[in-house]
Parts: sequence; C-alpha cells; structure tokens
Amino acid sequence: MPEGHTVHRLAAAFERAFGGQRVRTSSPQGRFSEAAQLDQMVLLGAEAVGKHLFLPLAPTEDVDPGAPVVRHVHIHLGLYGSWTFAGEPGFADAHAIGAPRLRRGEQEEELDAAGVTDWRRLVPRPTVRLRIAGARGLADLTGPTACEILDADGRRAVLERLGPDPLRPDPVGRERRRFIEAVRRSRTTIGALLMNQKVVAGIGNIYRAELLFRARLDPLVPGKDLSTGMLAQMWEDLVALMTYGARTGRIVTTQPEHRELEARIVERSRGTRQNGDEDPDVVPREESFYVYHRQTLPCRLCGTTVRSADLAARTVFWCPRCQSRRRRRASWTRENPAAPWALASETADGKAA
Ligand SMILES: [Zn+2]
Repeated sequence: MPEGHTVHRLAAAFERAFGGQRVRTSSPQGRFSEAAQLDQMVLLGAEAVGKHLFLPLAPTEDVDPGAPVVRHVHIHLGLYGSWTFAGEPGFADAHAIGAPRLRRGEQEEELDAAGVTDWRRLVPRPTVRLRIAGARGLADLTGPTACEILDADGRRAVLERLGPDPLRPDPVGRERRRFIEAVRRSRTTIGALLMNQKVVAGIGNIYRAELLFRARLDPLVPGKDLSTGMLAQMWEDLVALMTYGARTGRIVTTQPEHRELEARIVERSRGTRQNGDEDPDVVPREESFYVYHRQTLPCRLCGTTVRSADLAARTVFWCPRCQSRRRRRASWTRENPAAPWALASETADGKAA
C-alpha cells in the first residue's frame, strides 16, 4: 500500500499536471458514473492528508476551495489502487504512482502502440475507474479502495477521522502534541498504534518498522509507558523520514555508515518494491532499511537475527537485541550525539534531529 509520502507526491503531480485547468472526467469502467457530474469543471488543486487524496473541482477557476459549490473527489488507493499518467513529453514526472505494476510490460506496450505524443487517442483499459484529462495529458485511476464525490462537509468528516499527518505544516507543534497525547493515553502497543490512522495518518508498514528500530523501541511496549520526550523525538524523526520520502519517492531510513556492512549478504528478492516512481539512482532497496523485510538476516548494528511477527494485521519486523525493553531508553540521539541522522539534517535545514 502506498504510504503517506506517495500520496503527497501524487497531490503535487496533480497540481502540476492539471491545477487551474478545465478537465474532462469519465469512468470507462462505469463504476464511478458520478464522474459525468464533474466533466468540464476546473481542477482547483490537490490535497493529501495521510493516505487520502482530495481533488477539488469547481465550475470556474476563481472559486474558493472552501466554497459550498466545490466538489471534492476523495480517493484512497488502498492495497491495489494506482494512477497512470500519459501525455505530452514532460507532462508528468511519474509514469505511475500507486500499487506496483504487475503487468508493466503489457501496459507499456499499450502506451507505445498509441504513441506517447498521441495520448488523446489512448484507449483506457476497461478497469479504469476514473480518467481525468487536461490540455497536455491524462491520468487513469485503477483499483482504488475509495473513489467518491464529497461536498465540504463530507471532506471535513473524513479529515475528522484522521490523526495528525507528519507531512502537513505544523508551525506551532499542534500536530505533534496530538500524536503524543493519542499514544500516551492508550494501553495498546506502540506497534499497533502506529498503524492506526487516527493516531498518526500516513504511516504504513515500512515506516512503522523502521521508525521503531530507529527509536530502539520494542513494538510491544504499551503507548502509555512512553515518555513525552521519546514520542516527540519519534515524531520529529518521522517528519524527516517522510519529507525525504515525499521529495525522492523513496523510503530510505539507513544511515550511510550502516549500509555497507553486509555486502557479502545477497538478500533474497521478497517483493518489496516501493511505488514505481522512485529514481533508480538513489540508495538501493537492499540498503534502505534496517529491519523491514529483513527477517532471518543479521541486524545491521548488532548482528542479531531480525525477527518478524503479526501485529495489527500486518507483519512487524524488529531486532530483539537493539529493540529490547531493557534498552528502549537508549534512544538513538544519545547513542549518536555527534552524528545527527543524515536524512534528518538533509530535510530539516541543518537542524540536528
Ligand atoms: Zn540489532
């Protein structure tokens, strides 16, 4: 499932591709026939909150996005949803964003057959739930969990169900406080709380496992046992990691000095592809994570075998030595006082995390 950083990238892609333009909308699959109501409206922008994408549309471009006349297309990609872009050269940075393309070859053939410059005549696949077409290209949505039209109240109702999003601006620390309070009032394990979108919006299974490792935290510690300071550090770490992810399209959580330790180990291919729009030149997948999908392999820091178990319906991965309860107070900032995380310093304007 795309994690929050991917949805923020999508919102940015929509802004660039269609922002302020009058668009054509249709549902080739027929399962979103309401798309006809939006045809020829102006796409005012795009908004990402957690894993939810909102596309506000209005009759004219000068309408305030909060006005009652605005219709918000609400999309949640879920496990299988994805967007595919096609258009003029330079139209979209990404070819596809969302679930990994299982039939990439077939799809690319289809695009080639139509001709990249001839995107207007690109026949949609029968599974396309929503097609949005602008002046320079189009975007096709397939397989989403949610695709619906909401008014302003409906949008607000979705937002009220969601916890704080680390990628939303938080000038006064209100979002961070919401996160800390939600964790500290719960007896549930931190490993389960991090997957609860009411506690924090946008985290998926990769960020959960990696954030817990970076905090040296046992996934089974109850939320109420964690200190405010520890949770504040975790939040700041999450902001830095997800900002990096939103900028590059990749989740990378390892410090450079921890990437090369096990060059002799060839990791098995376990289907951990990310979201399809990442730059292949960045840190290779097998060096990007501390624990995610590394069960049975040695921990990059201590050599102990990384373990996995089910927690909150998804597999959690952790190092039983680095993340033991006894050690949970030995947070990474204390272990690395002079070495702020490379990623954090890259994304937080030199502020040592
Ligand atoms: Zn370890």
